[in-house]
Amino acid sequence: MNAGETGAGSVAPVTPREASPTIVWYRRDLRIADNAALSSAIDTGRPVIPVFIWAREEDAPWQPGVASRWWLHHSLKSLAVDLGTRGSRLVIRQADDSLDELRRIIAETGADTVMWNRLYEPSRADGDRRVADALRRDGLEVVSFEGALLFEPSEVLNRAGAPFQVFTPFWKHCLTRDEPPSPIPAPAAVPPPSNWPWSAPLADLGLIAPDDHQFSDHWVPGESAGWNSLDAFLGGPIERYGDDRDRPDLAGTSRLSPHLHFGEITARQLWHVLGDRRGTSADKFLSEVGWREFAHQLLHHFPHTADQPLRPEFTRFPWRTDPEHLEAWHTGQTGYPLVDAGMRQLRATGWMHNRVRMVVASFLVKHLRIHWLEGARWFWDTLVDADLANNTFGWQWTAGSGADAAPYLRVFNPTLQGERFDPDGGYIRRWVPELSGIPQQHLYQPWRRPPASSLEYPDPIVDHADARTEALLAFEALRRASP
Ligand code: FAD
Repeated sequence: MNAGETGAGSVAPVTPREASPTIVWYRRDLRIADNAALSSAIDTGRPVIPVFIWAREEDAPWQPGVASRWWLHHSLKSLAVDLGTRGSRLVIRQADDSLDELRRIIAETGADTVMWNRLYEPSRADGDRRVADALRRDGLEVVSFEGALLFEPSEVLNRAGAPFQVFTPFWKHCLTRDEPPSPIPAPAAVPPPSNWPWSAPLADLGLIAPDDHQFSDHWVPGESAGWNSLDAFLGGPIERYGDDRDRPDLAGTSRLSPHLHFGEITARQLWHVLGDRRGTSADKFLSEVGWREFAHQLLHHFPHTADQPLRPEFTRFPWRTDPEHLEAWHTGQTGYPLVDAGMRQLRATGWMHNRVRMVVASFLVKHLRIHWLEGARWFWDTLVDADLANNTFGWQWTAGSGADAAPYLRVFNPTLQGERFDPDGGYIRRWVPELSGIPQQHLYQPWRRPPASSLEYPDPIVDHADARTEALLAFEALRRASP
């Protein structure tokens, strides 16, 4: 029987002769292969109890949003099946506090060792230290492993021993380091305990609403599905990645971001799979995985940046509060076709193309001058790949307040971006169906269409030229006032 199918029941006593089991504490490493905690637990030769604890409050103030919870539900279901085929189960629990629940499971099972793969978000890293210290005081063996990234963030430092804040030297440095270890093959079997502790049904976690099928048309969560996506990408699009990656109308990128976020596939696996294929396009793709690495090491070294600017002068930036404009941005009703297409793709699918993320983010912080945190929070709730490091980095980069940030002079023109990166208009027409019949010459600026033609589409909520001028004045004033 797999997790999600077992119900609460009485705790079976541990057989005295059985060696104490090892608990593998799953978090965002929802895979069987290249899972150091799982493989090391199996290597002990003792029974292994895979456990997932839904302790949502521990991620405050960045608890998983609606789209992430949907993914998590299906990823846990897939992991439970994968463990089931190896003679094991996934024990699922819901708790206010992971430490308390781990202690309960330890008491129920007689486990004497707990293993997990490390995460690097500030609240997770602090929480892990607390859990490890407490369990060690209880007399347990606690072992944690690398696995979420290519390199340990604390080890990637410049010559002065400080964190890198510019991507190019960071990535050059990474490429000169020893290669990340080869991925660990998936184990054929996971030795079970003779008695399983009880598991909550997956549905009890309330991660999805019963009628919540919104994302199923677009995604299949889970480790095997992640590999299917990777195989499809390696089978064709990777060869054109350098050229196509900026085209939202083409399937030019891997769409691996949620699989990477939930640890269904690892950056180390990507590194080694790409090993034989190095060349312009594969190198470009790997360097994008490098941006993920860069974002994670920045959040590790500057944990306050999840909600505060890395460049402190930005705390004085004159952000505007405008609920109507914010709502128009949320709902894809700004009157700028590329911005609206992106925001509607996000709502419908839980994902948005990277080029369009940059355009919609720039529109929010520069055209509307609404605080980047408003955008980061919306993305957080709506993205299936919502990732604190990548999201924080993307928003601070766009706002100009982060590391290696976009120069404040760069205010993307949403019309020109559409003409350049969606040249045939396929992306805009797909996500803004009101514009599907408009002649190509008016597609990017529908407000310039002949006055007689009616259209159920809003006029621009701000004028690009005026908004750009005001943004530049605000940024210039900030620059002058900064020491
Ligand atoms: P590919 O082009 O196939 O790239 C492969 C992998 O590299 C991605 O899956 C991702 O893990 C990593 N990657 C690619 N580009 C970036 C980047 N610019 N920064 C960091 N990692 C990158 N990415 C997230 O995973 N989660 C987020 O919450 C997130 N929020 C963002 C917010 C903003 C404002 C911006 C501008 C970007 C954000 N990104 C985020 C980065 C990027 O848009 C996505 O990683 C990418 O679009 C995912 O699609 P893909 O897997 O097809 O990417």
